Amino acid sequence: MEAMGKVATRAFFESLEEVRPFLAATIARDCVGAHAFPVDRDIARVLGRLGILHPDAESETGMQALLERAVKSTRAYEAHYLVKRLAEDLCLPETPVCAPCPLSKKCPSAVLPPKGGRAGRKRPAAAKRKPKMKKKRAARKRTASGRRREK
Ligand code: SF4
Repeated sequence: MEAMGKVATRAFFESLEEVRPFLAATIARDCVGAHAFPVDRDIARVLGRLGILHPDAESETGMQALLERAVKSTRAYEAHYLVKRLAEDLCLPETPVCAPCPLSKKCPSAVLPPKGGRAGRKRPAAAKRKPKMKKKRAARKRTASGRRREK
């Protein structure tokens, strides 16, 4: 493979019917150091939720080509590793754990607790105050009516 070079190695594996583009890209990257951004289910899921890829509309080859154009060869391995970590730790297939996700503020698919969480906690306190106000008003009314009665 070293004699073939990066481009020919990848092209060779991509030409094999049984080998998915994701695997061809991984082999080319890990065996001969080719610039590649392999897109497996994890990468497609996370970048799909982030709105960067559209896994339902794009092919695996198309998504890889897009990412390889977008990410510099010097950063591709690290970026790929970080997206994989996010996929395995937080952006899980069934239910993503979005609250601790560092991308939650930018992610269009983030599932977060309601923003009024704090306000929601304050409401019961305010609600507790209301009866006191009612009591005061009721006391005033009683006093007023008492005065009226006195008159
Ligand atoms: S915010 Fe949630 S859906 Fe978005 S990338 Fe993070 S874990 Fe995934």
